Amino acid sequence: MTIKIYNTLTREKEEFRPIRQGEVRMYVCGPTVYDYTHIGHARTYIAFDVIRRYLEHKGYNVLMVMNFTDIDDKIIRRANETGEDPKELAEKFLRYFLEDMKALKVKPADIYPRVTEHIKDIIEFVEKLQERGYAYEGSDGVYFEVLKFKDYGKLSRVNLEELVKGARVEPGEGKKNPEDFALWKKAKPGEPKWESPWGEGRPGWHIECSTMSTKYLGESFDIHGGGNDLIFPHHENEIAQSEACTDHEWVRYWMHTGFLMVNGEKMSKSLGNFITIREALERYDPEVIRLFVLQRHYRSPLDYTEDGIEHAKNNLERLYNTLENIRVAMEKAEISFKWGSGEFEAYEAIREAKTGFYGAMDDDFNTAEAMKAVFEASNAVNRYLSRVETPKESVLRKAWEFFRIVSEVFGIFEDYFREKKAGNEEALIKLLIDVRTQLRKERNFALADRIRAELREIGIRLEDGPRGTVWKRMRV
Ligand code: AMP
Ligand code: ZN
Repeated sequence: MTIKIYNTLTREKEEFRPIRQGEVRMYVCGPTVYDYTHIGHARTYIAFDVIRRYLEHKGYNVLMVMNFTDIDDKIIRRANETGEDPKELAEKFLRYFLEDMKALKVKPADIYPRVTEHIKDIIEFVEKLQERGYAYEGSDGVYFEVLKFKDYGKLSRVNLEELVKGARVEPGEGKKNPEDFALWKKAKPGEPKWESPWGEGRPGWHIECSTMSTKYLGESFDIHGGGNDLIFPHHENEIAQSEACTDHEWVRYWMHTGFLMVNGEKMSKSLGNFITIREALERYDPEVIRLFVLQRHYRSPLDYTEDGIEHAKNNLERLYNTLENIRVAMEKAEISFKWGSGEFEAYEAIREAKTGFYGAMDDDFNTAEAMKAVFEASNAVNRYLSRVETPKESVLRKAWEFFRIVSEVFGIFEDYFREKKAGNEEALIKLLIDVRTQLRKERNFALADRIRAELREIGIRLEDGPRGTVWKRMRV
């Protein structure tokens, strides 16, 4: 089945047809690195991670680029406040960002271009705009002349007349028209600066993304994304710059994520209502955060509440429990010479869940619906296990393989599937179980309970049942 993507440009779900067959070139606007990354950012980056993972899962070769804004007004302001060198400040938070993404199991982009390493490319881009008559030099910088670009507003659908009326020229700004935006800013005393044909200065914000995405992905590419707040002016301006340069369509599909909200407001640095990824990871497993994000469709707003996170935590626990149920059952499962109604019922439920999962993901990456299918499969396999004496391996394998797909796409259970079940570890746990059984027979419950409690501490749970004791690896 083909994937459908909601394109912000057309406000419609469209069939996804990449420019080059079998390949997806995508660019996601990266962070401005002047502070710790918060879970609002995580919402957006986890969403795009799963989009990318799904495209890869479907067999596409994905080339993904994400920029780092490592010089801009906010960085300079913050550096002035803390007395740090802006370059070092940006470097520090850039490293933290990469660490946070790794902790959240977000796959790294293929290329992370940084503004400060692409100044020459940016200058060339601005020169080209100037040559083509879209840019002019003012007293304090180089500006893009918005009214020269006839398609301005096509993404955000801003009303150009109102924009022109509403825009103001700030005191000291050297632009001709209030709606124009800066491509290059001439340096003020003490600010970081680079040589350019317009004197020393630094790039504006929007031009970096046009330049660096085009440099690595070409003059036309498939997907460009970011949070909703970037539609205007950032992405609108990016389109103006890029298409003014080439006179042809730049990006095929524009994708935007809804905000992570706190008490009805966007989680943001400026409002101060944020929780950093580091803080969140002290309290929750990264997979709980991923599941929390994926329980909503990426375009819908997502409310941050303790309840919501707890819900995700319980759900993740349920899924791990199912995986362990399957793993334990596999040990005693048998090859089938016959299938009864129980097998057919379980098989049908798992088959339907899998179809549901792909259908939901194909429908504009609807992880919320896909998640429902995952739980349907989980319930079905648990129901099957509770009903049959000796499960059939083939049925369990269907469920197991489905969960492996979920793992790959959602970026959860990965360590679980990767872990080589070390022979020694299993043997030692079995030995402890035997010793504990013996201790209980001898009514030494204190020591028997201690073995169980301490195993729990290291993530091994013992469960006593009519057929003896089984053990499970716990994650959360
Ligand atoms: P910034 O560093 O503020 O430019 O943000 C980097 C990315 O995170 C952008 O794509 C933003 O749209 C996105 N973002 C920031 N805050 C939130 C939020 N509360 N919810 C979802 N995405 C966000
Ligand atoms: Zn950007």
